[in-house]
Amino acid sequence: MDRSPRVADVRDVAPVLRRALLGWFDREKRTLPWRETHDPYRIWVSEVMLQQTTFSAVSPRFAPFLDRFPDVGSLASATEDDVLAAWSGLGYYARARNLRLAARRIVGEHRGLIPRDPAALERLPGFGSYMASAVASLAFGARVPAAEANVDRVLARVFALPGVAGSGKLRERVLARAATLLPARRPGDLTAALMDLGQTICRPRRPLCPACPIEPHCAARRRGDPERFPRQRPKRSPVRLSLAAAVVQRSGRVLLVRRRSTWLDGLWEFPSAEGASVAAARRRLARRIGELGLELESGAPVGTARHSVVDRRIEISIFRARRGRRETGATGPDARWFLPRELDGAAVPTLTRKIAVAGLRPGCG
Ligand code: SF4
Repeated sequence: MDRSPRVADVRDVAPVLRRALLGWFDREKRTLPWRETHDPYRIWVSEVMLQQTTFSAVSPRFAPFLDRFPDVGSLASATEDDVLAAWSGLGYYARARNLRLAARRIVGEHRGLIPRDPAALERLPGFGSYMASAVASLAFGARVPAAEANVDRVLARVFALPGVAGSGKLRERVLARAATLLPARRPGDLTAALMDLGQTICRPRRPLCPACPIEPHCAARRRGDPERFPRQRPKRSPVRLSLAAAVVQRSGRVLLVRRRSTWLDGLWEFPSAEGASVAAARRRLARRIGELGLELESGAPVGTARHSVVDRRIEISIFRARRGRRETGATGPDARWFLPRELDGAAVPTLTRKIAVAGLRPGCG
């Protein structure tokens, strides 16, 4: 049963929480490139990058992306390949595709201006309710609550909310309390304060409660074990699998093929195949590259690497391959011979870069 304070009770403590949070934010807010602006485009791009990607991974990628696509118009007119290349290394490439599609819709339907209305934002590709509220609130100062994992954690602790982290039920409870907390002035700053507090003080493990500006009002702190909130789902054990990859080099160039699948769709990768063991993956790879007129060289892998994606732990074995007896089919729009140095600016995921580092002959290209 939900024994946490009712939303009506939150109203009583809201003024003191607001004052404490905004005062702390004014003193302690982090200097972030997307904080130094009210440009909704920059704020939108930063929010998309920060979804499912850590601050430290986003930080060095933000400015180069904006150098390449400084506004909605340049993003809308870019090719998908260019946007994927600029996104390379950030993962979850559907975000980059949707960013470009949304930019095209903004140009086509909103005269190039990002809508202020959360409902209009939510109709754009890639905008769920969080993204619409975050952009409306952080960029336009709309009084709408926005909650991501940090806000969920802070408010779940302050109000000792029941519910599992990441669940719709917890999010509903958090949003109801966040809406009550938002001031008429600076609602976006209050949302940013909650996000910052979750990042820097109210961390998932070992929260720094003595340094927290709202510690006297925190129910989880009073109960003595803040880490219990929000309740965590039991972790699934990771799936381990083998991936065999083929490196084919010719005249200083290396063959990559365009991936066609829901994961990493449209990106360039070494011909590869998965399996429950290295031997099984190698057999599947031999069949796959046989269709391209190539064959694996015999012998042990020439390199190995490891890669983790969500709950998959991938052991990579790299094999050399060469032209087979029949004419190679490694041509056309879905196969391309790259100079190794061209991989830097191409739509290539981290997995492919790891294989290049571990499997290419030094000095090639
Ligand atoms: Fe989080 Fe501790 Fe602050 Fe409560 S007192 S909000 S648990 S940091």
